[in-house]
Parts: sequence; C-alpha cells; structure tokens
Amino acid sequence: MPLQFTFVTSAKRHVDLPESPCEVAFVGRSNVGKSSLINALANRKQLARVSNTPGRTQLLNMFRLPNSATVVDLPGYGYAKVPGREKVGWQRMIEDYLIDREELVLVYVLVDGEIGPTKLDVQMLDWLRQSEVPHTVVATKLDKVKPSKLATRKKELAKGADLDQGDIMWVSASKGTGIENLAKHVTMMLTP
Ligand code: GDP
Repeated sequence: MPLQFTFVTSAKRHVDLPESPCEVAFVGRSNVGKSSLINALANRKQLARVSNTPGRTQLLNMFRLPNSATVVDLPGYGYAKVPGREKVGWQRMIEDYLIDREELVLVYVLVDGEIGPTKLDVQMLDWLRQSEVPHTVVATKLDKVKPSKLATRKKELAKGADLDQGDIMWVSASKGTGIENLAKHVTMMLTP
C-alpha cells in the first residue's frame, strides 16, 4: 500500500512548520535518490521533484499522512555547486531542525547503495549519534549493484556506516524493491 502523502508546506526554518502529532524525516546528500524514494513510497511521479537543481530544494518540505502524522523531506546536503555561505545556511537549517523538532521520532538517512557511505554521510551519521537523534540507514539504488557484488557491497556499506548489516534497509525506487517494507516501517513509526 502506498503512503498517502499530502503536501502541507515548505519552510525555511523548522519553527515555521505546522505542529504534528508525530514526524519522521528523510535526509541524504544531493543525488542520493531521496526524491525518487519519496515518490516511490507515495506511488506518485511528481510529489517530490527528481534531480533538483539547488535553489528548488533548500527548503524543509512537509507532507501529512491520513492519520495527521507528518514526513519532512530535508534539503540534500553536499551539493558541490552551492557557494560556501549558503552551504553553512543549509547545514544550520538541517541541524536546527534535527535537534529542536520535538515531534521527530526517527530520521531515515539515505546512503547511495552503489557508492556510499561518502565522507559527508559518515559525518552526518557521526553527528546524529553524538547529538542522540534517533536514526536509521536506508541504502538506495539497489538495482545499480550487480547481484554478484551485492553481498560484499552490503558488508562494505554497513562497515562504513559503523552498523550491522541487519540495521540497513535496502531499496530501489526504480524497481520498487524494498519500498513496501520501508512504507510499513514508516507507518509503524508514525502510529501513535
Ligand atoms: P535526490 O537529489 O536525492 O532527490 O535524488 P533524485 O531522486 O533526484 O535521484 C538522483 C538520480 O538518481 C536521478 O537521476 C534518478 O533517476 C536516479 N535514481 C534515483 N533512485 C534510483 C534507483 O533506485 N535506481 C537507479 N538506478 N537510479 C535512481
């Protein structure tokens, strides 16, 4: 069953977001496949924009589910073409949200299944651990990993993220693999 996302609002600062009974967030570096994943979870083509250029994605995008719980799509981090000062602004926005948002129950950290975790992913995971923000890792683009390499890739990714393999959910937005499982996870996290 797809998640029934309804777009609520985009905000520059988390204090401008409406209240929520319960919230999860998605974060990851630009191009990790976050928009594609959110669209796949909702079974919609254009809910979150795919392959965004910076400028269109520097906001916190909030969606509501039928039970009033919410999902926040955080701006992608590490876009090389963004000038320094703007980059700092983004980081602040994401970090303030993650630390201060009381409704937040879990952050899904997206890591590219083919190449991740990158240095920035590791920094994000370290920061979340230090800040005691509850989080879990989702590896994207499963279809890009050759079946013969998958076992090794799963091991490498888990090691790089300093996690057990069983703690990482693998998905392919293109093929739909693991989407149902992740949708169930989100639903479970957002059920009071
Ligand atoms: P975002 O910047 O994190 O929102 O990433 P996008 O969803 O825009 O995806 C970035 C690129 O990766 C696009 O070219 C997508 O088509 C591609 N992509 C996203 N998810 C998948 C996937 O599951 N499999 C494959 N093969 N490509 C994907």
